[in-house]
Amino acid sequence: MLVFVLNAGSSSLKYQLINAETSELKASGIVERIGIDGVLKHVISENKKLTIEAYIPSHKEAIELILETLTHDETKTINSIDEIQAVGHRVAHGGEYFKESTLVTDKVIKKIEELIPLAPLHNPANILGMKICMELMPNVPNVAVFDTAFHQTMPEIHFLFPVPHEDYTEHHLRKYGFHGTSHNYVSKEAIKLLNNKKDSKIIVCHLGNGSSICAVRDGKSINTTMGLTPLGGLMMGTRSGDIDPGIIPYLMDKKGMDTHQIIDYLNKKSGILGVSGISSDLREIIGAANDGDQRAQVTIDMMCNRVKKYICSYSGLLGGADAICFTAGIGENSDLIREKVCENLDFMGIELDKEKNQIRTHGNREINKPTSKTKIFVIPTNEELVIARDTYNLVK
Ligand code: AMP
Repeated sequence: MLVFVLNAGSSSLKYQLINAETSELKASGIVERIGIDGVLKHVISENKKLTIEAYIPSHKEAIELILETLTHDETKTINSIDEIQAVGHRVAHGGEYFKESTLVTDKVIKKIEELIPLAPLHNPANILGMKICMELMPNVPNVAVFDTAFHQTMPEIHFLFPVPHEDYTEHHLRKYGFHGTSHNYVSKEAIKLLNNKKDSKIIVCHLGNGSSICAVRDGKSINTTMGLTPLGGLMMGTRSGDIDPGIIPYLMDKKGMDTHQIIDYLNKKSGILGVSGISSDLREIIGAANDGDQRAQVTIDMMCNRVKKYICSYSGLLGGADAICFTAGIGENSDLIREKVCENLDFMGIELDKEKNQIRTHGNREINKPTSKTKIFVIPTNEELVIARDTYNLVK
């Protein structure tokens, strides 16, 4: 079954065309700067890529352009859009309604709309993507796959915030967690690597521009670092992660900031970018630290310490860990960060093999010493494949 996987953002669209039965990736791409100017980057294979720069006024024109590119002479992957048998949509926030992926119906769209206050930037774009696909491919079923769904198994003691309880019951204030599709995929891969161990205890570190850690017991999320919004938890590319909440009124007072400015400050100007003053891209920070930049070094150390803090915390919660998994841009590619995170954790039975850690290969790999009680895995994430498989399972 050919599944078109769509990840719609406010001014961008990422897509993949996947054969869900064989997991074969047929084509992928991204449309950026929708409504500004517009650029489509389409990839069929390593040697076959295409870039189109043209004014793309709206998401509808963007999806039309993608579908045209998929069926166009030079970039042809399919003969006609009729070959697309289902569309899988990444949806940011499913609140407490959606504990798993679901077929898109008018009722489902209404619920996702109700959740817009919890994800004001993402859910509207996700809904738009669904409505356009339903219009352009009226006979094709659509499936919504939620970033929050995997974490719906978290027990109350982990999802409640220590604030008055009526704000949970009346205003849905609780931890939801994100990156669920990635944590789900990576933890399942880890369980396979552990020979399907029963009651497995796994800690997944999804470290990218956005980062989160998840404690997974027997395949179920029991705690994760992001909260009501993706601002919580780890220090990220431009997001602060956890801070003393008292900082917010203090800064608003000192710098005369309003709500929008403080949200912007914590979401877009903090984290790796804010501390380093250089960039949100960790490669640049590592480069600067190698050239002797002290603040860049402090940025790296702060970031790694926060990851370490959660690994220790979640190990305590799980009563030890069978495996620690690293995934996403930083987790998959940076041996330096993995080494720093695992440093001094031998006392807990986490022993990294520094040589194995430095070997760069594709696919899942084990990088712990043979004596390590806890396995350390690098597992490349594949959120699109999870979306395609969930879509297939619901549609078939
Ligand atoms: P993602 O959001 O998963 O695409 O991850 C993006 C982040 O991964 C950026 O901060 C990149 O700098 C970082 N990254 C990618 N490759 C490397 C690498 N080889 N070493 C360090 N960081 C990397």
